[in-house]
Amino acid sequence: MGAGILSLLVGLFAGPWGALAAVALAAVAVAALAWRSAARWRARRGALAAPFPEPWRVVLRQWCDHYNRLPDDLRARFEDDLRIFLAEKPITGVGVEVIDELRLLVAASAVTLSLGWPAYDWEQLNEVLLYPDDFDRDYEFGVDDLSGQAHPWGTVILSVPALCQSFRDPDDAYHVGFHEFAHLLDLEQTHFDGIPLGFDDTAARRWVEVREREIPRMLRGESVLDDYGAHDPVEFLAVAVEAFFEAALALRRNHGELYELLATYFQQDPAAWDDARGLTLEPIRARPPRPKGRMARRRPRSRLSS
Ligand SMILES: [Zn+2]
Repeated sequence: MGAGILSLLVGLFAGPWGALAAVALAAVAVAALAWRSAARWRARRGALAAPFPEPWRVVLRQWCDHYNRLPDDLRARFEDDLRIFLAEKPITGVGVEVIDELRLLVAASAVTLSLGWPAYDWEQLNEVLLYPDDFDRDYEFGVDDLSGQAHPWGTVILSVPALCQSFRDPDDAYHVGFHEFAHLLDLEQTHFDGIPLGFDDTAARRWVEVREREIPRMLRGESVLDDYGAHDPVEFLAVAVEAFFEAALALRRNHGELYELLATYFQQDPAAWDDARGLTLEPIRARPPRPKGRMARRRPRSRLSS
């Protein structure tokens, strides 16, 4: 059957009429792409037409440490990227009312990562689902197992209490939103491999070398990075991204090469922005002890069990 269709297609495009048909098909494809990008451009222009809502700004100032540390020009870009994200990405509550504040926290999680990449559109993300609590592998709520998941087909699930806690404590290197969206940056076709998408061979080699050096430190408890990331290259990337944005000064001081790789990758320098706002680091900064309690530092897992 497949061979029959193939030979039919080959027959169709053979000879001068076939060449004409191929040109016509290509023209239709180009026109469809142009129409799609024009529609997207119009939608984006619409999303940015009005001034940024002041109540949203109040929410960001109150909740989003990264927004507060940004230089003015980048803060304006953050606001634009946030509105574009919200215009293009569906955020659906499952037993949760998706109020504006929650939508802002979801978008702020993603935009924090992509801020340094103009016109980045999170194409690999189809939808975000918000759950009322943590969940287990059968998607039952109220079980201390998963606080988030990123699926290779483009669905990100976030537990609302874990998301709020992540923003409430901005410097503990735990952030379920950063973590799950970081997994999507690792997305190469339909699998995760622990190498940031877009790294060339040289950068990828360097990433692996740095990772191999960092993992023993994590296992010895001598790292700013959570040891949750020590056993899986995919989780290492997500945990490193969390630390980059939530413990920037400590990461730069104690894991300079990793910080530099991530700063180049994200085209952002959060430690320099923390310097500029007068933050300092204790001379010796160990990871804070894991607080007790249900919401405390449980790590999101990000792949479906097979
Ligand atoms: Zn993960």
